[in-house]
Amino acid sequence: MACFRKVRPSKVVMGKCDHGGDLLEEIASLCENEEIRLGRIEGIGAVAKARLGFYDQDLRKYLYHSFDKPLEIASLTGNISMREGKPFPHVHVTLSDEEGNAFGGHLAPGTIVFACEVVIQVFESPDFVREHDEETGLPLWKL
Ligand code: ZN
Repeated sequence: MACFRKVRPSKVVMGKCDHGGDLLEEIASLCENEEIRLGRIEGIGAVAKARLGFYDQDLRKYLYHSFDKPLEIASLTGNISMREGKPFPHVHVTLSDEEGNAFGGHLAPGTIVFACEVVIQVFESPDFVREHDEETGLPLWKL
């Protein structure tokens, strides 16, 4: 059965990631520094290179694709919740190349920032905690 909780909007944090930083690490450390335990993130910008995951539902593991070239971040969207006691950003991106082709997937470590501006809407609520889910093999919210 589906589970939902009402959450209350709190502050909004806006900022930019460091040029040359790992995009996922930049977001995770921003969340730790700002003590963001629950939120929604969006962003735009560009990356020097990218590594995206695709969850193979049969194999129950992520397959990774690397893109070793500059790409636009046409869209970055995701959420922040708690996993193993730390803020955990779960982020998906759509990236586009010089011809306008788009690629998308689960943002993985190894995606290097050229420039990226993010907005995080913080929510107040009891923690959403990720735990291993037997049905999917994924770390999903235990609500
Ligand atoms: Zn994902």
